[in-house]
Amino acid sequence: MFCKNCGKEIDDKAAICIYCGVSTSGTDISQRKKNTNVLAIVGFILSFFISIAGLVCSIIGYKRATEFGGKGKYLALAGIIISAISMAIVLLYFGGTAILRALMNRF
Ligand SMILES: [Zn+2]
Repeated sequence: MFCKNCGKEIDDKAAICIYCGVSTSGTDISQRKKNTNVLAIVGFILSFFISIAGLVCSIIGYKRATEFGGKGKYLALAGIIISAISMAIVLLYFGGTAILRALMNRF
């Protein structure tokens, strides 16, 4: 990272700038946390395992992407698509087996 005070490059873990001695902690770290669209990432990961939860998180993450300067927008969009596809597969699977079972009972 770069020092807020003198602009020189310093170690990411450094608590104070080695050039001017100004503290690097405080607002800088919380701002960096705020800039990460966690919901988009969580939604994207969840979409592979729990499609409904992934879909919900991705939609919220997508809507909130503007708050993060567009960060995670495409990730959230990918999460929405993946969870929608996996939900469609599950629905087709259960729908298909239900139809098959109904046909089997008829004969
Ligand atoms: Zn400095």
